[in-house]
Amino acid sequence: MCPAVAKLTFLGAAQTVTGSRHLLTTASGKRILIDAGLFQGRKELRLRNWQPWTAGPLDAVILTHAHIDHTGYLPRLIGQGLVRRVLCTHGTRDLAAILLPDSAHLQEEEARYANRRGYSKHQPALPLYTADDAEQAVRRLEPHPYDVPVQVVDGVEVTFHQAGHILGAAFLDVRADGKRILFSGDLGRQNSTLLANPDDPTAADALLLESTYGDRTHPEEPAAEQLQKAILAALQRGGPLLIPAFAIGRTQEILFLWRRLEHEGRIPKVPVFVDSPMATDATPLYLKYPADQSDEVRSLLARNVRPLQPARLQFVRGGSESAKLLERDGFFAVIAASGMVTGGRILSHLERHLPDPATTVLLVGYQAEETRGRRLLQGATELKLRGTIVPVRAKIAQMSGFSAHADWREEEQWLAKAPSPPGRVFLVHGEPAALEAQRVRLAAKGWRVQIPQPGEEVALA
Ligand SMILES: [Zn+2]
Repeated sequence: MCPAVAKLTFLGAAQTVTGSRHLLTTASGKRILIDAGLFQGRKELRLRNWQPWTAGPLDAVILTHAHIDHTGYLPRLIGQGLVRRVLCTHGTRDLAAILLPDSAHLQEEEARYANRRGYSKHQPALPLYTADDAEQAVRRLEPHPYDVPVQVVDGVEVTFHQAGHILGAAFLDVRADGKRILFSGDLGRQNSTLLANPDDPTAADALLLESTYGDRTHPEEPAAEQLQKAILAALQRGGPLLIPAFAIGRTQEILFLWRRLEHEGRIPKVPVFVDSPMATDATPLYLKYPADQSDEVRSLLARNVRPLQPARLQFVRGGSESAKLLERDGFFAVIAASGMVTGGRILSHLERHLPDPATTVLLVGYQAEETRGRRLLQGATELKLRGTIVPVRAKIAQMSGFSAHADWREEEQWLAKAPSPPGRVFLVHGEPAALEAQRVRLAAKGWRVQIPQPGEEVALA
């Protein structure tokens, strides 16, 4: 039986920050999934990726942006033949073409590891999806420009609006059964250095609002100042500056500020290495789409300045070049994944340089519990890296100025630009305390606000 009105089902990112999956079912029974994210983090969350998909075949999947917690479940759905079409922006298509095969590679590696160790219930253990599923998913991505309404299925239309969170990020204005539903996706910051500002919100009968920073605000000191101080302090110590950073987004932000600091004469021109094939592939994409760029990036490009190119920058792609870099002495900077030191090439650099007191390790983002990054922050005196115990004598520094998410104050400013308050609000993509703080503030405006339970179904009457 078809519902008489459209309904929303909260299949993921409900009372947590990963696994974004919001199902819109129209009155005529069309099923459209907004984001197909992977659950990440604690084991109990990761196991949800293995639960059978019971929501049926999908007429469409619409992606807000390329982060794996918004797209990483798509290859699983595609592999099972459940999806008719997938819509996203151009930037999201390009980044997903890098991220989804990498995610498949990690899934396959995990299955191989489980088989070697014999700890899986299934013999042999299978990956959640394969590289082939990921490639199929990438081929199915239909890119669309911002600001142009697209027909998704009969009676449903979507418009992608700039969200400023990572390259290609969008919030979605979906029209179905006479209702307007706004999906915020992940919302970026005003005046980010690299990316365009988020567009103003449209009017909406229902708004799904991300609440990652629902109970926190960003530090006042700009990232550029923090980075300048960290670089100068590392130079003084004399050894290398190692920066664990995500290959997509964070690495490009650092490069942008680094070049600007050099140009302003605030730091000397020193050798900088980006030791990451993924970052090497992703960086040129940031210069490809004017719609995604900040005014500053656009004006630099118009003057033939390369905004992501410190004077002595080198990208390291091959493994042998990376190995050669390990022989280098003195001051130089290495930016390499992963951002929380859970894997990637940064491990080799740390193994080589952590025992040296002249080294500086600069942690630039949030470090989740039980990661090596967190242990370094907490003052660990040794670190286990690929089976070896390495003493930590390096200086461990941290900066907190980078974030791809609007904090709650910035979200309030964004919401204030809507032509009218949303008819109702569903708070998603937040930890319980962040969601509750956000709920209290928005309810105080007299708004109808709800924190949906995982799996909850709501009719948009
Ligand atoms: Zn995101």
